Amino acid sequence: MNARRVLRGTPASEGVAIGPAYLYRPEKPPMPRYITEDPEAEVQRFQEVVREAREQLRAIHAKVLQETGDKETAAIFEAHQMFLDDPMLVDSAVERIRAQHINAEAALADTIEEVAAMFDALEDEYLRARGADLRDVGERILRILAGIGGASLADLLEPSIVVARDLTPSDTAQMDRSRVLGFCTAMGGPTSHTAILARQLGIPAVVGLGEAVMELPAGELLAVDGSAGLVWVGPDEAGRQEFAARHVGWAAEQKRRQESAQGLTYTADGRRVEVVANIGDVRSAAEAVRWGAEGVGLLRTEFLYLERESMPDEEEQYQAYRQIAEALGDRPLVIRTLDIGGDKQVPYLPIGQELNPFLGWRAVRLCLGMPELFKAQIRAILRASAGYRVFMMFPMIAAVEELRAAKAMVEEAKAELRARGLEVPDVPVGIMVEVPAAVVGSDILAREAAFFSIGTNDLIQYSMAIDRTNERVSYLYDPLHPVILRQIHQVIQAGHAAGRWVGMCGEMAGMPEAIPILLGLGLDEFSMNASAIPEAKALIRRIHEEPARQLARRALECETAGEVRELVRAFLANL
Ligand code: PEP
Ligand code: MG
Repeated sequence: MNARRVLRGTPASEGVAIGPAYLYRPEKPPMPRYITEDPEAEVQRFQEVVREAREQLRAIHAKVLQETGDKETAAIFEAHQMFLDDPMLVDSAVERIRAQHINAEAALADTIEEVAAMFDALEDEYLRARGADLRDVGERILRILAGIGGASLADLLEPSIVVARDLTPSDTAQMDRSRVLGFCTAMGGPTSHTAILARQLGIPAVVGLGEAVMELPAGELLAVDGSAGLVWVGPDEAGRQEFAARHVGWAAEQKRRQESAQGLTYTADGRRVEVVANIGDVRSAAEAVRWGAEGVGLLRTEFLYLERESMPDEEEQYQAYRQIAEALGDRPLVIRTLDIGGDKQVPYLPIGQELNPFLGWRAVRLCLGMPELFKAQIRAILRASAGYRVFMMFPMIAAVEELRAAKAMVEEAKAELRARGLEVPDVPVGIMVEVPAAVVGSDILAREAAFFSIGTNDLIQYSMAIDRTNERVSYLYDPLHPVILRQIHQVIQAGHAAGRWVGMCGEMAGMPEAIPILLGLGLDEFSMNASAIPEAKALIRRIHEEPARQLARRALECETAGEVRELVRAFLANL
């Protein structure tokens, strides 16, 4: 395809999209200051930008009103428009340009500061807050003057490709998913937040494109191929048509996959297995259901709280869990307690520097050391579970002593709720098996855990003694290695012997080359990225139990991951 430029990055989420670039730049706009030779040209430049800002605000106001009916929020944008109609602002900036021969940015900034300072000095709290609104309007104009894109994804007015340096959960929280055609980021790898979110939402994404992508002009037409990791800048007419057609085909395929993934899952000979989703927030719960999730096998609660200044209190946590439970209706929801530490740091918890954070004070270890924080979360989970099928799960359990201590916390939390006069529902309490010690002790743990969910992402790293983020040792990171399969086998056997269900919520559960073996080993529940569900379900529905069991038995006897891979390939080819 012909285009002005082609950018190469890392494939992060499959699919194709074509549309205008929306440059997301949350950082402050630049504020140059200089003397101009031609004040009238500067006045004209300023007035054009004010017109554009007014147009943006008018469109946002209409969008908020029409889509949310939220008159209060819409009124804020109306008030912002009124600032632009107010001669106090625009006329005095123009006067400054003419009188002092300064550039538009400097004139605007001086005017805004002068007027905002007047608001700041007022007694009335409501009027004082208008100073902040005024600065907001000023920043919008400065952004347009600098030609640098928006400060908020809430400003997304038309379907666009979001271009950003990187995206954090709080950036994407306010994003209207229906207007995001694709993501292109300068930074990030295949496991960055942008990549995970894009896969969860089924949005094509290319990450790691480098700084060049931030220099694209806003509105530039981009064609994104998320599977190839390529972005065409300014494709020609033939390219546009080709991409538009590919996009239509891909969207239709997505819809067909979602439809085919509805309903419960049985193997070809009728064993019921559960195919559920890993999620990190309220929005992805509804999205997961669209992708055919029969429930949620892992809610990573820490994702709700990474980008914050302080830990949310019980009430706020309760509201979030409750909303997720409501979105799922009668489907099961496994809520994992905080898994902070390791590579997931938060500014408000005093973890401190550790020499080996992955082997340090993280997850349930940290929670046991901070009982008030832990119990607040447990109370929120218990309260949210009333009337819903909620399960509680502890991460990183290494030994039964930890499980006992954590369950004692649950009892304390229940007593505290009863003391408030609340009725406390019975919530099954299980664990993640993601530390080799828990595999070895799985028969002991099975007596006291209501269920197991195998966390292969961590289990592989701890089994092989490799940091899962270190590229140089990644050759050992292979879910199909017999030493990993043997551990999974052991955990399933121990769980089943005690009458427990055993699931898996590591990435391995959604891998088509692992699924036949996992079925053969007897796994009961597969929890994965929502967009992997259709393919996983379709595969499970084609597999018969006995050949899968044979495959698993042979895989356990293999010596290398390569041998296992060959066996699975042959199995899949013969399906
Ligand atoms: C895992 O370790 O497999 C897992 C699912 O947890 P996380 O990726 O959140 O550590
Ligand atoms: Mg883990």
